[in-house]
Formats: sequence, structure tokens, C-alpha cells
Amino acid sequence: MKTHALSASALRGEGLTSQRARDRLVAHLREEGIKDLRVLDAIRRLPRHLFIDEALASRAYENTALPIGHGQTISQPWVVARMTEALIERGVPQRVLEIGTGSGYQAAVLASLVPQIHTVERIEELLRKARRRFRQLGIENLRSKHDDGNLGWPEEAPFDAIILTAAGEGIPQGLFDQLAPGGVLVAPVGPSGAQTLLRLTRDAQTGEVLPEDLGQVSFVPLLGGLV
Ligand code: SAH
Repeated sequence: MKTHALSASALRGEGLTSQRARDRLVAHLREEGIKDLRVLDAIRRLPRHLFIDEALASRAYENTALPIGHGQTISQPWVVARMTEALIERGVPQRVLEIGTGSGYQAAVLASLVPQIHTVERIEELLRKARRRFRQLGIENLRSKHDDGNLGWPEEAPFDAIILTAAGEGIPQGLFDQLAPGGVLVAPVGPSGAQTLLRLTRDAQTGEVLPEDLGQVSFVPLLGGLV
């Protein structure tokens, strides 16, 4: 099959050079304050260059966001690491929902750390490419759908953790309702240029929500409708 031939050659090319580049990236992330060894190890193992177009592949292990088409970006590795850390810090969630599949990189990082990941993307072509990558890498504990992530994935709720990788003015209520008691939601919130990374934890007993500010970030906007 064509995809398998592609995958084999992609993985052959994925030799020492890219492993060294990934080791360097991980060393840099540690210097920049990422501490969770599970997260660092996931990033050390996952070939980020397979999640971007070949023309940009030589920059795959820079700590920077890169364009993936349709005006969207694969997030900066530090941001992926920080959000993943925030999500699993108080225990590994069983079922995770991601809004904004994009390249699929964040979802693939999560798939190597949690039992079950669901991811939603509104741009069909990006989702198609991401699915090809998941297949190439043999990722099986992941389901994806083409939909408006503002609605979440009600048929599959509740989720122990929800991660948004696009920034809205607030957290859509429908999404919040799909968070299990004791669950944690990590999301960038606010207008372009003034976004804050928030972690909201829903208390298992009282249902009360504890908000934490995890610092300034820069994300593409959370939009509505399908493309
Ligand atoms: N997690 C991605 C980041 C991609 S950028 C990665 O690792 O590459 C954010 C993504 O969110 C974009 O692909 C954008 O199309 C998507 N997005 C924005 N609003 C959305 C919505 N309402 N529902 C689903 N996806 C959305």
C-alpha cells in the first residue's frame, strides 16, 4: 500500500540525526523549566518532523510554532510540553478530549501518555493529514472527528481531561459540561496578543471550579463552523 511504503521510507529517514535533534530539543525544554520526565520522554520519542510539510522539516526540532496550512500552526514544543504537564500533573487522566487536532502532534504526544484520546478538528484537510500520521505511527488509542469543537464530543463524554489548542474569549459551556467531576481543563483564553493559559479543576466533591493562571501564551483563535 502506498501509505505504508511512504511510512517505511519516512521512518528510515528518521535516523540518528533527528534523534540527536530531538535530544537537543528536550535538553532545551528542561532548561526552560519543563520537569515531567514522562512528557520529556514522549517528546524525545515522537518524530515531530512527520507532523509538518517536508519543506519545513529541517526546522522541526526548533522550539517554535510552524505553519501547517490554512493559516494554522503546529504549537511550539514548549507549549505542548507545558500543557501536557499541566494535564497529567495530578494523575494521568483515562479519557482526554482535545479541541484543535491541527497537525496531530499534541494528540500524538498525549496518546503516548494516556489510555484514550479523542480529538476534534474543524478543517477537514488538516484532519485528513493528521489521521494519515496517526496511522503511519501505529497510534490506535485515538479517535478523531471533523466537527466544531465548541460542541465537544457529547456522545463520548464525560472526559477526565479536556485540552483546547485554540484560544476563545472564554471556555464554551458545552465543553465544560463534558468534564468529569475531579477533571481538569487546560486552555488558552483571551484575544490575540493577550492570552492566558488557564487550568480549571472541577472539585470531585463540591463541583466547585479552581482556576489557575499558567502564564501568557499565543495561540490561533478558536473559530466556529466547519471547513
Ligand atoms: N494541537 C495542534 C495545534 C493546531 S492549531 C497541533 O498539535 O498541531 C489549532 C487548531 O485548532 C487548528 O487546526 C484549528 O483549525 C483548530 N480549531 C480552531 N477552532 C476550532 C473549533 N471550533 N473546533 C475544532 N478545531 C478548531
